[in-house]
Amino acid sequence: MSAAPSTPDRIEPPRGGALQLTGPALTGLVLARGDVDRSAYLRADTDWLAAAWADPATRVVVVEHGQALCALDGGQPHLGFVTPTQAPDGVRFLLGVAADGVVYFGVAGPLPPEPDLGLRPAYLREAGPLLSDRDAGLLTHAVALANWHETFTHCPRCGAETDPINSGHARKCPVDGSEHFPRVDPAMIVLVTDSADRALLARNALWPEHRVSILAGFVEAGESAEQAVAREVGEETGISVSAVTYLGSQPWPMPQSLMLGFRAAADTTDIHVDEDEIAEANWYSRDELAAAIAAEEIRLPPPVSIAHQIISAWYGDDLPGSW
Ligand SMILES: [Zn+2]
Repeated sequence: MSAAPSTPDRIEPPRGGALQLTGPALTGLVLARGDVDRSAYLRADTDWLAAAWADPATRVVVVEHGQALCALDGGQPHLGFVTPTQAPDGVRFLLGVAADGVVYFGVAGPLPPEPDLGLRPAYLREAGPLLSDRDAGLLTHAVALANWHETFTHCPRCGAETDPINSGHARKCPVDGSEHFPRVDPAMIVLVTDSADRALLARNALWPEHRVSILAGFVEAGESAEQAVAREVGEETGISVSAVTYLGSQPWPMPQSLMLGFRAAADTTDIHVDEDEIAEANWYSRDELAAAIAAEEIRLPPPVSIAHQIISAWYGDDLPGSW
């Protein structure tokens, strides 16, 4: 495969695949991978972008309502790319340039017909854990941008329809000139443990019986993530926490969250669930957790989630998870 037009000289940034995730307990976050350089410095280079789009070696990920074509059912799972000439009309965004020089774009538009090779539409939640670092990173990036372009189409100031700029990484209002950037909602998720190192797991009131996870909630306006941890734990279970420790983060563009993972030490152990958001909550030792899972009394979230990874890190081994 020939390389796309040569990229202008610049200082090489570190590549995403080499990044060490924060926190010794959190490794292998499924959606926090990727080894294609985002190449933000090229997003406004119209000549380079036009040449890259004209290159048949360029690869395009098409995303429609959160789904992309993937081959997941045999052999090495991979994204189903199309060439620029095969790509549908739709908002186009530069995803980046790989170490081998191949340029990757995303397009938010109708999925191409499934030509062959076991390709089928799949959501990030299913495909993310199966794909390579490169493809998982590309799909996470593409889904996040496509979701934003599908939703935030008009100017919040004057209501005019905005236009994509900066190779799809921003939008601009043609009436008042205001610029708008992809929306990301920070949410915290926290494993609370007591002095006996038991873990606090809860069932959201909207979830079916037996499904449990650690506590989570959106960071509110004017609030730090650590403050959100203490507030949400208090509101949902009546427990006060201290010693809030950051573990790591994972994008969760379904549709637009960034999950910030924490540990927190409980100062109290009496649980008073709010009965609005949380239906029930309980403390589990490691042995109690393993027994409850084995007896099918509880089910943990799937490994694609940061919640699963945090719980497994505390447990000291991988655990079955299936929602
Ligand atoms: Zn406007």
